[in-house]
Amino acid sequence: MDKQQEFVLRTLEERDIRFVRLWFTDVLGFLKSVAVAPAELEGAFDEGIGFDGSAIEGFARVYESDMIAKPDPGTFQILPWRAEAPGTARMFCDILMPDGSPSFADPRFVLKRILARTSDLGFTFYTHPEIEFFLLSKKPVDGSRPEPADSSGYFDHTPQNIGMDFRRQAITMLESMGISVEFSHHEGAPGQQEIDLRYADALSTADNIMTFRLVMKQVALEQGVQATFMPKPFSEYPGSGMHTHLSLFEGDRNAFYESGSEFQLSKVGRSFIAGLLRHAGEISAVTNQWVNSYKRIWGGSQRTAGAGGEAPSYICWGHNNRSALVRVPLYKPGKTGSTRVEVRSLDTGANPYLAYAVLLAAGLKGIEEGYELPAGADDDVWALSDAERRSLGIEPLPQNLGEAISLMERSELVAETLGEHVFDFFLRNKKQEWEEYRSEVTPFELRKNLPVL
Ligand code: GLN
Ligand code: MG
Ligand code: MG
Ligand code: MG
Repeated sequence: MDKQQEFVLRTLEERDIRFVRLWFTDVLGFLKSVAVAPAELEGAFDEGIGFDGSAIEGFARVYESDMIAKPDPGTFQILPWRAEAPGTARMFCDILMPDGSPSFADPRFVLKRILARTSDLGFTFYTHPEIEFFLLSKKPVDGSRPEPADSSGYFDHTPQNIGMDFRRQAITMLESMGISVEFSHHEGAPGQQEIDLRYADALSTADNIMTFRLVMKQVALEQGVQATFMPKPFSEYPGSGMHTHLSLFEGDRNAFYESGSEFQLSKVGRSFIAGLLRHAGEISAVTNQWVNSYKRIWGGSQRTAGAGGEAPSYICWGHNNRSALVRVPLYKPGKTGSTRVEVRSLDTGANPYLAYAVLLAAGLKGIEEGYELPAGADDDVWALSDAERRSLGIEPLPQNLGEAISLMERSELVAETLGEHVFDFFLRNKKQEWEEYRSEVTPFELRKNLPVL
């Protein structure tokens, strides 16, 4: 038994914890949980806890459904919304096959595998997500229009605003679970919030995002509202992105920083961006995995002056250009650690483990192959004409899930990064979603055609 495991067992006793939830994530990014009694935990650290994987989205075919969840003691936290004794705690798990080898279906393993390769190249991958989401007064499930829980806008700070109380309580809860928050504010649309987590290694960030979504839903319920991470719940308002700032460190040194170069960006940083751009189309089905995701990046609101959608539709990069897919934030003199790139396509409905894995794979490919960074886009790329964009070599992102699937299907990079099992399951599942959507007659068509045809 190692020190972390001992710490967990001791804490269970000292804090009178009766339930331990073992958490893991399915291929689509939904959190799964099995509760065990503290007495089972010593065994769980040794051998894991068996469960039937066939019922979990993307995990196993029926004939190989026995799987094992092995808790990672480094992720132990007491759940603050179950604070009264006897308490409840959670740990994230790695998923193993009956023979003890890692399960290829486990998204956490997909990310760990590429992080191991990254570390062989001498790098550590850091991520800092800006998470946007909506608070709704309720969540209709019959397809009718939801109602935002407030009517405020960007950075609004008004006493009757539900968001203020909500954010204070939510952040307190996150911090009590060891998740540091850097900024928070009301976002552009009614009911829309943003909370930015402090940067951490990508595995911790992905774990934190899974916790974050649950905490937001929990706090919302306590305040009589509902939180949603749907990328674009309203046609006329901006959607919810999960812009993420990425950097690679070599030991203590930021590998993206180089003194005196343009934007203080090193060759490694430039090639990393070039990789993100060149592979943006084929990784899109993972970073933007729902039919609805493409309503966010192609919705009308970002082209309407003042609506402030600011989700990227075109594949380009810029320095402080908020219409670009990749943005290099302003360099603050002396802050060599802070040179980083911000990816703006990612949305809040993604599986964070898989999304960070494919973004990292794209960037590493750029470094390994020494891709040259194309010229940056200084203009608002939405304001250019199609011909102007074409002459600048600026391609569009996929316009819908169907296009994204076709690009992913032909991608060696994504196949390699996700591994065969997740790659095949993901494509099958997403094709089915696209097929279902494509075959549905929508209110739009009825509104447009029925009165006149
Ligand atoms: N909501 C926008 C998006 O979907 C981002 C707005 C912002 O943070 N500038 O990406
Ligand atoms: Mg922000
Ligand atoms: Mg924002
Ligand atoms: Mg941002």
